[in-house]
Amino acid sequence: MSDNLPLVLDLTLPQLQTALEGLDAPGYRAKQLWQGIYRQFWENASEFTNFPKAFREELAEKFRFSALEPIQTLVSADKETVKTLFRLPDGKPVEAVMMKYDQRRTLCISTQSGCAMGCVFCATGQMGFQRNLTSGEIIEQVLFYARMLRESGEQVTNIVIMGMGEPFHNYDATMSAIDRLNHPDGMNLGERRFTISTVGLVPAIQRFTADKRQINLAISLHAANDQKRSALLPINRRYPLTTLIPACREYVEHTHRRITFEWALIEGSNDRSEDAVELANLLKGLLCHVNVIPLNPTKNFDGKATSRSGALAFKEALEAKGIPCTIRLRRGIEISAGCGQLAAPMVNGFGSSVTRV
Ligand code: SAH
Ligand code: SF4
Repeated sequence: MSDNLPLVLDLTLPQLQTALEGLDAPGYRAKQLWQGIYRQFWENASEFTNFPKAFREELAEKFRFSALEPIQTLVSADKETVKTLFRLPDGKPVEAVMMKYDQRRTLCISTQSGCAMGCVFCATGQMGFQRNLTSGEIIEQVLFYARMLRESGEQVTNIVIMGMGEPFHNYDATMSAIDRLNHPDGMNLGERRFTISTVGLVPAIQRFTADKRQINLAISLHAANDQKRSALLPINRRYPLTTLIPACREYVEHTHRRITFEWALIEGSNDRSEDAVELANLLKGLLCHVNVIPLNPTKNFDGKATSRSGALAFKEALEAKGIPCTIRLRRGIEISAGCGQLAAPMVNGFGSSVTRV
């Protein structure tokens, strides 16, 4: 199949309707095609057995139905976490993770191959920016796991946009992917089931605030003063806390939605009681929640993860100051489920060691 053909997953329903106009097909075919993709999760034209054969052949000549090639899938020992490394048509890597927890089936999906933000502890940041994903390439990660889950009678319940890349650096494609996954004639996943995590691109946060969507917003904070935050997250030099926190307050005031702050606990660096107090003072009066997660070690960063007892002490110090906090588990560590950890070796020239499944 040629990579030059339009990817059907990149199209909105009206765009699909327009694209089919030239073909010898009744008007309702576009919606049938749409439902085949987003409800039946069909992945190539030949599966549309409700269509005449000639039309299926025309579709196959006119569109690509897939852009992601799964090249490695890893399953954690407890089978609760599955991670897949995909190759894009231009050879760039991208990853997505599926996590089972209680009744939830949560996907962690990517919006870029690599990332331009260069956060020092992040495996994706360490591999640099490769390229933006298209909306269809973002969607296909969801369809891949929807098919996998269907085999065991399950379905996707939640989507966190916390995989590779900075979603607000690829704003339009990310929102257009969510719109399509949210579409009532398709997967019909409610906006409240989505969480977008951003490193803190202030103009995009302002745009998101104005959009007034129901999507949950998470901000990767990790430090409560500019000196420390800039050392970990270089983008903080452009959008320091004096611009980021007011943008967060404005979001909450405007949407009345709670905001989540992400905090990777790094031993001796941002996990002491004085760090908790500094954070509590920064967030005072803001409708928010802090998620702490012990650092996931990466190759090019020296920091160590905070111990379980250290994480508990941090949580208690924060809550004593009135800020609710949850300790997140580091899931799927043995399968490098921290995003970027499979793909980074591929970009850095170890692609041949990747096993095919
Ligand atoms: N670019 C977005 C979303 C992808 S990163 C963002 O930065 O928010 C998803 C989350 O994983 C972010 O909170 C990020 O700071 C965190 N993260 C990245 N590398 C990590 C590591 N090695 N250990 C723990 N958390 C990490
Ligand atoms: Fe990019 Fe997020 Fe990683 Fe920072 S933490 S480099 S913004 S993916």
